[in-house]
Amino acid sequence: MSAPTPAVTVPPVLARWGVTPEQLAAWRAKALAVHRRLLAHYGTPRIQRRPPLDELVLTILSQNTNDRNRDRAYAALRARFPSWEAVRDADSQAVIETIRPAGLANQKGPRIQAVLRAITAQRGDLDLSFLAGWPVEEARAWLMQFKGVGPKTAAIVLLFSLGKPAFPVDTHIYRVTGRLGLRPLHWSVERTHVLMEHIFPPETYEAAHLNLIYLGRDVCRPRKPRCARCPVRSLCDAAARMDGGAASAGGGAA
Ligand code: SF4
Repeated sequence: MSAPTPAVTVPPVLARWGVTPEQLAAWRAKALAVHRRLLAHYGTPRIQRRPPLDELVLTILSQNTNDRNRDRAYAALRARFPSWEAVRDADSQAVIETIRPAGLANQKGPRIQAVLRAITAQRGDLDLSFLAGWPVEEARAWLMQFKGVGPKTAAIVLLFSLGKPAFPVDTHIYRVTGRLGLRPLHWSVERTHVLMEHIFPPETYEAAHLNLIYLGRDVCRPRKPRCARCPVRSLCDAAARMDGGAASAGGGAA
């Protein structure tokens, strides 16, 4: 008797990286189970929609800082300059001083202005709404042509502003998915972006992204994860290893 045909077709990009149908099916089942458990535990996240350029600048400001400092810098920028055109054309020192609360202002200020100038050079203005009509991969590539716009920043703009199926992977999601066993531990952040888009259903991206971040801040912290009170402990590979005594909890649940 011939073996049953696997129900899951592995996309070519994942097949090239050695993913089997069985592995993909297992990741998909676990991703859905994790998503449902997190929804039950944390609820449906509230989402603040912003125009794509606002989201892009906000996400550049968020690099290497926390939400509070990012928001302070963003609010200061909006209060000081009446438009993105004014930010683009401002004296660079004025922008740097204004976004100081976000940290790395000497990098982020010039980076934001360079992106604003590059968009203007290409499009003639600063309206990014045209991207809503583009296929997701073309829109992603367009955004990532700009220095300082990586896969996470592009995916945040695509998902939360433009309603496109993109799954942003930040430092929390990268760590948590590794511990849970939702990706090979040695895979890069770039590969993890691709994988997450193939294992979570697109309609779950927003809530799954935000709830995985909540999980990472709440219990699955970089050092000393609080596994005893984790809502997805029974689904977690790292916890299973710890329960089996093969790994220590302190930071080693990587
Ligand atoms: S059980 Fe522990 S390691 Fe696993 S996701 Fe929860 S906090 Fe993180």
